[in-house]
Amino acid sequence: MIGVKGMSRTPLLAGNWKMHKNVKETLGFLDEFIPLAKGISAEVAVFPPFTSLWAAAEKIKGSGIKLGAQNMHWEDSGAFTGEISPAMLKEIPCDYVIIGHSERRQYFAETDETVNRKVKSALEHGIVPVVCVGESLEQREKGETLPVVLSQVEKSLSEIKIENGSQIVFAYEPIWAIGTGKVALPYDAQEVIGAIRRKLAELYGDVAGEIRILYGGSVKPDNIKDLMAQPDIDGALVGGASLDARAFYQIATYDR
Ligand code: PEP
Repeated sequence: MIGVKGMSRTPLLAGNWKMHKNVKETLGFLDEFIPLAKGISAEVAVFPPFTSLWAAAEKIKGSGIKLGAQNMHWEDSGAFTGEISPAMLKEIPCDYVIIGHSERRQYFAETDETVNRKVKSALEHGIVPVVCVGESLEQREKGETLPVVLSQVEKSLSEIKIENGSQIVFAYEPIWAIGTGKVALPYDAQEVIGAIRRKLAELYGDVAGEIRILYGGSVKPDNIKDLMAQPDIDGALVGGASLDARAFYQIATYDR
């Protein structure tokens, strides 16, 4: 049922480490986090830098923790210096890949078109894309939040069929809330995420009720509970607070 968290939408807490943690630090985090993760009922996933993915994959075997990359190219191979392909991520293996994070849109010329190509490619490879959308402060102040975000959602999905809600995840991340300590009010985040779900329902019908939509932007142990109480918020994409095993555990056990 659209807008009501049910069995089909398992909460997902995803830790985006950005350009933090070398291999040693990744393994140190997991040494602390794996025993804690046994007590987490939500799904948890970590997104280390590319260089730590292989070591992380080996370490989390059998733990139930999922693994994701922070970006990828859409081609399988080729003359694309510095890029990583979906086939390479599949080999690790990665369960998830973040696509269109605002830092990539802002600093690395990611566009709605490249996001769309990457989403298509991730789906073809059976890697679940975590598609990031969100407005800037200027756009919010001009009252453009919904048109901006819904256009990003629609363009990311151009010519894409979704038949099963577990194929894709969205993350609504207002740019002004990322790394700033300014979290969106739960009601405001719900308003946008509810609108994203209605857009997904226009595109895919009932499948929209199965697609997980996360909130991201300064999520911390002390604000996650109120966000998760909103009917359409199915989890969080967590940056800074996911670097600390105990803080990430506290976020993932918001339901205690
Ligand atoms: C992010 O990087 O996606 C993010 C939400 O960062 P932070 O939690 O640090 O705001």
